Amino acid sequence: MIAEFKNEAFINFSLPENTKAMETALVRISSQKGGHYPLVIGGEKINTQSFITSVNPSDFKEIIGTTASANVELAEKAVQAALAAFADWQYVSPQERARYLFKAAAIMRRKKFEFSAWLVEEAGKNWAEADADTAEAIDFLEYYAQQMPKFAAGMTVVPSAGEQNECFYIPLGVGLIVPPWNFPLAILTGMTTAAIVTGNTVIMKPASTTPVIAAKLMELWEEASLPPGVVNFLPGSGGVIGDYLVSHPKIRFINFTGSKEVGLRINKLAAGVSPGQKWIKRVVAEMGGKDAIIVDSEAELEDAANGIVSSAFGFQGQKCSACSRVIIVKDVYEEIVAKVIAKTKALTLGPASDPAVNLGPVIDKNAYDKILEYIEIGRKEGRIVAGGAKGAETGYFIEPTVIADVLPNARIAQEEIFGPVVALIKAEDFEQAIAIANDTEYGLTGAVYSQNRAKLEKARREFHVGNLYLNRKCTGALVGVHPFGGFNMSGTDSKAGGSDYLLLFLQAKSVAEKL
Ligand code: NDP
Repeated sequence: MIAEFKNEAFINFSLPENTKAMETALVRISSQKGGHYPLVIGGEKINTQSFITSVNPSDFKEIIGTTASANVELAEKAVQAALAAFADWQYVSPQERARYLFKAAAIMRRKKFEFSAWLVEEAGKNWAEADADTAEAIDFLEYYAQQMPKFAAGMTVVPSAGEQNECFYIPLGVGLIVPPWNFPLAILTGMTTAAIVTGNTVIMKPASTTPVIAAKLMELWEEASLPPGVVNFLPGSGGVIGDYLVSHPKIRFINFTGSKEVGLRINKLAAGVSPGQKWIKRVVAEMGGKDAIIVDSEAELEDAANGIVSSAFGFQGQKCSACSRVIIVKDVYEEIVAKVIAKTKALTLGPASDPAVNLGPVIDKNAYDKILEYIEIGRKEGRIVAGGAKGAETGYFIEPTVIADVLPNARIAQEEIFGPVVALIKAEDFEQAIAIANDTEYGLTGAVYSQNRAKLEKARREFHVGNLYLNRKCTGALVGVHPFGGFNMSGTDSKAGGSDYLLLFLQAKSVAEKL
């Protein structure tokens, strides 16, 4: 009997024993920095001439590690290894498959501080954000393992006289897993485990900025004795191996999370049929956001300001759910602007390994340049009231930046910036605030602060986002509690961490036997 699911508790870093454990983990992983990680294809470790170098965004002179980098020939080898492993894995009982996930969760829990330390150093997450990423990864492992028996029971069918009928779920085949770098452990773990617990085999292609954490996850699969070839570890440039794998005739599905541009490209390519391909590929694509918080004239303003600052600047605004627009009803506009400025100015910026730091660096040079460019655009489109400059130039540091008096159709109010920049927009009334919030091509998360029941009900009906939060921040979805996925150009609304998610990796077979 499987225990009821409970979210992994977050670590309380105000307790000295936890601070000590994290410091120890940071020291322990330091001795492993600069290590090299091969591809793992069908259990075979493979090195390549070219490799990917992962640097510490808090101090880009420091190398976190290197991984091998696959080319098209090795991608083909990975497809063949996954196909070979599928022959057996598809028939392994769902209960047995789930046990690998429970085992992996137990190992990850034992190594929790270590995983979080890698997240601090490779992704630039502060301690609390890193811990939340690791906790979410553990949640995905246990939640999907616990959901599996439900699907193993099959679909309920109506009895028919003289026949024995059933409708059961079978896996799809070989899948390609393409995660983003911003939740390099949680999202990668969730996307991979949902696919394998349902009996598929996969190629796990990590994001090129965070391949070391992915390599650590691969080591964990090996430690949990997952049969070779069920997960194949294939770091490599998305541009080099991505199109090849997406259009490969033997790839049955693609589970993607990342930008709109890459997601749409994958969706288009996957719709084509390559010679020898016998199926329509299934694409799960979770993409970007331009998430808004609405502050009504009848809101608790202190709560709202706290929610805004936390949603906008948690992990430097590099969450798909991050608040990048605040739409404020005019009666409380000046008051909210003043509160947001004060709270933003109180945040500290620095290396993610420093426990006192609120904001670490952004992920890499591309992100750094792009965000600074948007700040310059924002300077023309509004009034910078906090931040607006670089931090220390030893890492990719950018001050948390608040831009007031922005028009709803300004570029910084429409395009995903994916950094510590938030636009404040004034609305005439609540009605207009909802209209502005809905007026982007995205529809991922949103929040409304109001004490007025009718307005909350209006938002419930009309604010068109996959994850709506009322009187709380718009980030921090929990596995099982807030199934996660967006509308419109935010993606296919797959609802990761929800009770229907596993169905996306299954197909149903109906069998009738005449008695
Ligand atoms: P990208 O789209 O740049 O990259 C995502 C992944 O796609 C990476 O692994 C990348 O590999 C790979 N890739 C790139 N080109 C191709 C290709 N031609 N074929 C196949 N794969 C390819 O996104 P980011 O990693 O920068 O992540 C940030 C984005 O992710 C933001 O837009 C954010 O909103 C979104 N996101 C959405 C979430 C959601 O649930 N809706 C959750 C988290 C993030 P490589 O690194 O090698 O280029």
